Amino acid sequence: MSVKDNAQTIIKNIEEACAKSGRSVSEVKIIAVTKYVGVERAKEAVEAGIAHIGENRPEGLIEKSEALVHANITRHFIGTLQSRKVKDVLLYADFIHSLDRLSLAKEIEKRAERPVNCFVQVNVSGETSKHGLSIEDTLPFIESIKDFSKIRVVGLMTMAPQTDDHELLHSVFRKLKQLQLTVAGKGWHHAPCHELSMGMSGDYQIAVEEGATYVRIGTALVGKEG
Ligand SMILES: *Cc1c(COP(=O)(O)O)cnc(C)c1O
Repeated sequence: MSVKDNAQTIIKNIEEACAKSGRSVSEVKIIAVTKYVGVERAKEAVEAGIAHIGENRPEGLIEKSEALVHANITRHFIGTLQSRKVKDVLLYADFIHSLDRLSLAKEIEKRAERPVNCFVQVNVSGETSKHGLSIEDTLPFIESIKDFSKIRVVGLMTMAPQTDDHELLHSVFRKLKQLQLTVAGKGWHHAPCHELSMGMSGDYQIAVEEGATYVRIGTALVGKEG
């Protein structure tokens, strides 16, 4: 399937999920996760009208950013971020989806020249294999970085378990939505927290039904090479 055909299918599915949950399609942005594919496939995604590109390694982010330098895209860093890579990632990423610890916040605060749009990553399901703060630790963590002038918590991000259990997926995404509303309700200047980065190839419709504003789609959109 061409990226364009895949994009059309995904948009149709998102429209359905929005209709089902009474949301507006304009609230949902698609991030093409290009970590499995080369720059040609990433270019096809841009040509198909996808304005957001996501990568999980600094090297991939730099490679795609440079290849797409003349395209008007927004770049998302979605992977685990090591403190020593912060400097590189700040040069290329418009959004960081994986803020999950104080040491990383401190490094961003030290290196950034302007406020950085960050999602705080939450491990809603509690699987030990997953990164992210627990639900209980998220609010105290965000409060603890209140005085960091270079961090803007735009929203929360999660990765759901790999499962076909739709009830479980609904409940994971719903919990993140509730937490997002709690954070936003604090009215903290550094944490408007209006966005929800959740939903991947296997579960994005459910995530949209539960309030996702950014879905991160790799396999179902650009495929997987190699
Ligand atoms: C790889 C990845 C995705 C996309 O995964 P697919 O299942 O291929 O859509 C989304 N989010 C993160 C954080 C990823 O690492």
